[in-house]
Amino acid sequence: MTYDPRSLVRRTRNPASVSQPVSSPIQTSVVYRSTDADELDAQYEGRLQGYTYSREGHPNATIVGEKIDWLEGLTEADGKGTITSSGMAAVSTMLLALLNRGDHIVAGDQLYGRSLRLMTQDLPRLGFECTLADPTDVAAIKAAIRPETKMIVVEVVSNPTLRVADMAGIAALARARGLMLVVDNTFTTPRAWRPFDHGADIVIHSLTKLLAGHSDAMLGYVAAKTPEHNKALYDAAVTWGFAPSPFDCWLTERGLTTFDLRYDRAEANAAALADALADMPGVARVLYPGRADHPDHNRAGDLLKGRNGNMVSFTLKGGRKTVNTFLRAAEHIAFAPTLGDVGTTLSHPASSSHRGLSEERRAALGITEGFIRTSVGVEDVDMLIHEIASAVEQSTKAGGA
Ligand SMILES: *Cc1c(COP(=O)(O)O)cnc(C)c1O
Repeated sequence: MTYDPRSLVRRTRNPASVSQPVSSPIQTSVVYRSTDADELDAQYEGRLQGYTYSREGHPNATIVGEKIDWLEGLTEADGKGTITSSGMAAVSTMLLALLNRGDHIVAGDQLYGRSLRLMTQDLPRLGFECTLADPTDVAAIKAAIRPETKMIVVEVVSNPTLRVADMAGIAALARARGLMLVVDNTFTTPRAWRPFDHGADIVIHSLTKLLAGHSDAMLGYVAAKTPEHNKALYDAAVTWGFAPSPFDCWLTERGLTTFDLRYDRAEANAAALADALADMPGVARVLYPGRADHPDHNRAGDLLKGRNGNMVSFTLKGGRKTVNTFLRAAEHIAFAPTLGDVGTTLSHPASSSHRGLSEERRAALGITEGFIRTSVGVEDVDMLIHEIASAVEQSTKAGGA
């Protein structure tokens, strides 16, 4: 092979190979070359499949999108979901694609913090209104509906108190009133609950969390149950510029290969940790939907059928000093405000996700200084329980508020 040295700048074609790579290549190319204008026409008109510009789609996004479509039960006839650069980009895509000026939203009052901010602080500036209501109480959701209400936005299991929404009641209400039902399924994942099977019109994910699972990729997903809505979601994501990075898609694809194994292991660990916590003298209260003492235990049983997830919250007896001692003592468990990592992580809502709320509002939700949220990982459960028990014991001994 001889090259004219002046031609180094020219791109080479992929080397020929009859054998194909086993793992997906990361395709970072922003643009794709077509043969001629007729071929490009055919691509744009959908007669030929081909990528053009990576904001509009690339192979790594297609691979992840098809896997999540499959997990959520989307069929060929429904169209395809859209992969976005983050979970929040998916929430934004949904709102920008489906709402018109003057529309009103009813949203769960314990949604993810940034979703709440977007709907209650940023959207009003653009001419949309939002009313928050308690999704465990369908009468409260119903009371919030106005003539101009367009959609209901909920999460199935709330953060961080793990309350379980009345999804059957809300889905029936949305259907009766002709409202779109939007479900952020990040916490539950399709392994626990598939919103499209229960009347949802739109499903949103932060793939950053359990589905990618390693705290190294940021990605979102949004899909609808009709091709028209899926096209509107795709067009909004492309136009507003919420394109995902190929590398994050590649990492997410890799994370997905072990999703069901990780989920099942983390869930079993969470159930065991919740029971162990309930027996610790330094712990005032444990919240896990699988436990009989959880306020929504019966609904969790009906809805999730034993898939109670990997999140456990508990309250230490004591205040900030006790919490600090506990967090330092649990030195091998990351104190980090995320969830769904392979390793267990701890968060303290009063100083992070819920710091913006007044103390009274936090108290009303049951989020005191001693409240800890645990995203349980896949490590050896005996080791995990031992580490947590030892940290709780040290925090109790340290005493004080
Ligand atoms: C994290 C999260 C989001 C936002 O996702 P990012 O990928 O961080 O943008 C949205 N909803 C829920 C329920 C989340 O946990």
